[in-house]
Amino acid sequence: MHELSLCNSIQQVVARAAGERPVVVVHLRVGRLRQVVPDTLRYCWTLVTAEGPLAGSELRIESVPVSGRCRTCAAETTVEEVLVLLCGACGSPDLELLTGEEFLITTLDLADAGADAG
Ligand SMILES: [Zn+2]
Repeated sequence: MHELSLCNSIQQVVARAAGERPVVVVHLRVGRLRQVVPDTLRYCWTLVTAEGPLAGSELRIESVPVSGRCRTCAAETTVEEVLVLLCGACGSPDLELLTGEEFLITTLDLADAGADAG
């Protein structure tokens, strides 16, 4: 399963970054073009982390819309329907993608991070 292998990769990165410190929340930024189902990803995360030091940690997923810049008229477009990548201004299909392909861990919330969030 796509999501399961993603979670395995995330787990490895998080474990390396956190070391011995307990992780409460893993913040993830995922572009819509990745075709990841957030609910499935969260479910797989509980499976992948069940036995290890990341057990009980939460995966918080920020979905990034697809956007691009038109090579014809230079307008920037946020694409609602990802199967049709067209410029919203002139309809040209010659779109340079700006966002939508992200897959990255942005932040780790650690258990001993204190109350200085905000
Ligand atoms: Zn255009």
